[in-house]
Amino acid sequence: MKINTQLDKILEKAWSDIPLNREDCKYLLTIDERSFESGLLRAAAASIVRNKNDNSAIILGQIGVDVTPCPGGCNFCTFGEDHTDFKESHLSDYELEEKIRDFCKYDDLYGLYLMTMHTYDLDRFLQTINKAKAHAPKTTQIWANVGDSSLDAFREMKKAGVTGVYHVCRIGEGVETKLNPDDRIQTMKNALDAGLELYTCCEPIGPEHTVDELVDNIFIGIELGITQHAAMRRVAVPGSPLAKYGQISELRLAHIVAVISLCSLTVPTMAYMGVHEPNELSYAAGANIITAESGANPRDNQADTSKNRGMDMALCRKMLFECGFSNIRKGDESKIPLDLDYLIKTDSLV
Ligand code: SF4
Repeated sequence: MKINTQLDKILEKAWSDIPLNREDCKYLLTIDERSFESGLLRAAAASIVRNKNDNSAIILGQIGVDVTPCPGGCNFCTFGEDHTDFKESHLSDYELEEKIRDFCKYDDLYGLYLMTMHTYDLDRFLQTINKAKAHAPKTTQIWANVGDSSLDAFREMKKAGVTGVYHVCRIGEGVETKLNPDDRIQTMKNALDAGLELYTCCEPIGPEHTVDELVDNIFIGIELGITQHAAMRRVAVPGSPLAKYGQISELRLAHIVAVISLCSLTVPTMAYMGVHEPNELSYAAGANIITAESGANPRDNQADTSKNRGMDMALCRKMLFECGFSNIRKGDESKIPLDLDYLIKTDSLV
C-alpha cells in the first residue's frame, strides 16, 4: 500500500528527530482518525516514544485538596461558580495522609499533584505541600496544579519541595472561562522562571474545535519548553454549559495524542506524554502517563472522584500492563519491571 507523500515526509522527520512545525501539525490533525493513515501515525508515535524510554510509563496521583465554587467560571468544569452544586470544603490532614498512603502503598507513584481551585490560600497550600512531602516516599515527586500564580508564589512552592507545575491556557480561554489567556501564559512563564518544570495539556477538546484552534493550543507548550505535554477531551459533565456539544471519541483523542507526541518529542526538556482520561487507544498512540485521581475533579460531579470517574492505582497498573509497557518509572527515574508477578504483588489483577 502506498503511503500519502506528505504523511511519509512528516513521519520521516519525526523518526529523524527533526522538529515538526505548525503546518506539519495541522496536516496531521486533518487526517481522519478512522483511516489507515491515522493507524500508521498512531503506531509511529507509540514506537518513537517507547523507543526513547525503554518502553516505560509513569503513574501520577492527583488529589483535589480544595473545593469551592470557582471564580474561574469555566463552562466545561463542574466547579464553575455560576453552575456548581459544590459547597466549600478542604481536605483534612487525616484525609490527605490517607490518600497519600493509598497512592504510595507500593512505592511506584512517580509524581503527586496537589490540586486547588483557581483561587487558593498560598499559606495553606504550602502547609499541604509540607505534609505531602512528609508522607510520600522520596521517590515520589510533589507537583502543584493551582490557579494563576506569581513568580514569588512558585519560588515558595519550589522551596517547599515542589518539582513542577501543571498549568494550561485552555482552548477558548477568556471565552468559555472568566480567565485571561495572557495571565495563564504568564503563570507558565513564572513557573519556569522559578526553576520548576512545566506540564501542560491541549484541553478541553470538544467536537466543535477547529484544527487551527488545536494547533495554536498545542504550540503554546511546545514553544515555552514543557517537560510533559498531554491531550484531554472535554467530558460532557451533566449540568455543565458545554455538555450540549457532546464529546470526541477515544479514537479521535488517541489520534490527537499521537500528533502532540510527535510535535513535542524534539523539545529538549520533554519527557512524558499524558492523556485524560486514561484509555487504551491513547497508550497505543504515544501516551505514557496515567493518572490516578482522588478527591475533587473538574470532570466529575462526585465530591470524591475515586468513587466515580477517577481510576485507582491498581486499575492504572493493569491498564499499563495491558497496553504493553515493560516498566513503571518512579520519580527518581528508576524502573520497576511491569509483569504479571508485579500485578499480583500489588493487588492489581482487577
Ligand atoms: S477548570 Fe479550574 S479554574 Fe476553571 S472553574 Fe474548574 S477549577 Fe476553576
